[in-house]
Amino acid sequence: MATPLSAAKTLSVLKAEGLTVHEHEGWRTHNRDAATGRKFGPVIGVLIHHTAGHNDRELCFNGRADLPGPLCHAWLGKTAGLWLLGHGRANHAGAVDLDVMNALRAEKALPHDNDANADGNDLLYGLEIENLGNGKDPYPDAQYRQAVLWAAALCRAHGWTEKSVAGHKEVQPGKIDPSFDMDDFRADVRRQLASEPVGKKAGSAAKKPGSAARSGRAAKPRVDLSRLVTAAKTDPGARQGHVTYMAGTNLTEAALVQLGYLDRTFAGDGSFGSTTVAAYAKWQRHLGYSGADADGVPGKITLSALGDRTGLFSVVA
Ligand SMILES: [Zn+2]
Repeated sequence: MATPLSAAKTLSVLKAEGLTVHEHEGWRTHNRDAATGRKFGPVIGVLIHHTAGHNDRELCFNGRADLPGPLCHAWLGKTAGLWLLGHGRANHAGAVDLDVMNALRAEKALPHDNDANADGNDLLYGLEIENLGNGKDPYPDAQYRQAVLWAAALCRAHGWTEKSVAGHKEVQPGKIDPSFDMDDFRADVRRQLASEPVGKKAGSAAKKPGSAARSGRAAKPRVDLSRLVTAAKTDPGARQGHVTYMAGTNLTEAALVQLGYLDRTFAGDGSFGSTTVAAYAKWQRHLGYSGADADGVPGKITLSALGDRTGLFSVVA
């Protein structure tokens, strides 16, 4: 729990971490506090998103008809650099899982996000990374590196570890952003926190992103085959909406949607239900399997092929 950084302090800690910071006109007073009658903070962590689009800085500043801006505190362009868009409450996290918030606050391992029963916009700083999020749109090294520096700067300022960093997909049911592995991202934040921020080194010019000890490259999220198999065997027979393996199921469903095997309306609730099993069986038949080999329960070869074809994930067995 911590008091949110002032606008001036935010700017200074980001620069001290080695970032070049762009300021959108009006960002210091752009927030949702007055409109909602709620105050931003106390803050407990930082949240990472992908925008699922391109050239969306102004969209993130202004918001949409159904969701007023700012949609994040900072927007990170593919090549346009880091932009501060808001200060205060921002519409980025939405309704999140209270158990996950409590774990984040305590810097413990995050439980599965099966509820949407807390207001994440009160509690979390948000970064939107410009990326289609389809698993094929690359995160340039320099962009990914700036995301690590942004998260590290805020954690360092609050005395948090990398365990105060989460991805949207880890806190809100149904979300799949960001489309890189958050354990890898947290490891990169940990490495950055272990190093001295460049701004502290007297006389040294700010390093360019990517020149630090380890140049980050966004790795794909991983789906654990054995956990997914358990989900495919458990969820259809359990009560409606039973969730065994939220993250892996959502990624698998997103891939099946992308390839046209599953209707979007059935994806994203984290439950590997009978509709998902039927869709997966279609994918297995597409690959030439039949009978018991096309029963809708994922296997190593078909799941790896699904992750490769869509670019959405890799498989660990
Ligand atoms: Zn998001």
